[in-house]
Amino acid sequence: MNKLGIHALVWVGGWSQPEARHAVEQTASAGYDLIEIPVLSPASVDAAMTRELLEEHGLEATCSLGLRFDADVSSRDPEIVRRGEDLLDGALAVAREVGSPYLGGVLYSALGKYAAPLSEPGRRNCVTALRRLAQKAADAGITIGLEVVNRYETNVVNTTEQALVLLDEVDADNVVVHLDTYHMNIEEPDLATPVRQAGSRLGYVHVGESHRGYLGTGTVDFPAFFAALAEHRYDGVVTFESFSSAVVNPQLSSSLAVWRDLWSDGRDLARHARTFVAAGLAAGD
Ligand code: MN
Repeated sequence: MNKLGIHALVWVGGWSQPEARHAVEQTASAGYDLIEIPVLSPASVDAAMTRELLEEHGLEATCSLGLRFDADVSSRDPEIVRRGEDLLDGALAVAREVGSPYLGGVLYSALGKYAAPLSEPGRRNCVTALRRLAQKAADAGITIGLEVVNRYETNVVNTTEQALVLLDEVDADNVVVHLDTYHMNIEEPDLATPVRQAGSRLGYVHVGESHRGYLGTGTVDFPAFFAALAEHRYDGVVTFESFSSAVVNPQLSSSLAVWRDLWSDGRDLARHARTFVAAGLAAGD
């Protein structure tokens, strides 16, 4: 059975105590098993408070982030790489302290549009940083997920094939491929091939619609995707991601180019997605 999750940005743009409480309460009441907490600014996440809320509501958590252009392990500038590693270390510490078994996302570069291809020195810096992160994460029992995202959000990993090459280079057992249907819909030949290519190295899944709004109202081929997950016996987490200018995280919303309202009622959106994903997974089985 797949655990079902939802990204915190369906509920809140920040992580103050009232925001965290609202997000955790709503996630639990919509029937999800876990909430994915963005840790783009690790210092802004009160881990003890978060852990307490999770325990109170019997909810699990995962953590995710994308790096920044001034804190980017794929840079050729050692100072920028060092800030990227510090950011990853901070995010890993939050994941450990909130009890998340998973830290994923665009951990290998900035989350944003690059003006040039990845450089060779940048790639070496990226691999070195990911090896270090994987080792520290292994010591904490945490899995590292490299999310495959589209060309406007990184120049390092746009396809599953590229992710597998990077995984081979990093060469650590606790590093997995993280697929997201929104990005697959842009870069991959179809929604089933990447699942087959990743095979047992698929460790985390985001489901998002082509416009990031209500599932089933865009062009993503969800039946093919869910069937592929079943065929390859994927039993990991499936987390719903959706973004609207109705809920804004100053950093993340702009990086993701969330410029319009795809929805205004997070509760309705979340319940709809929970039903949609559960039905899709059941149909694929
Ligand atoms: Mn995603």
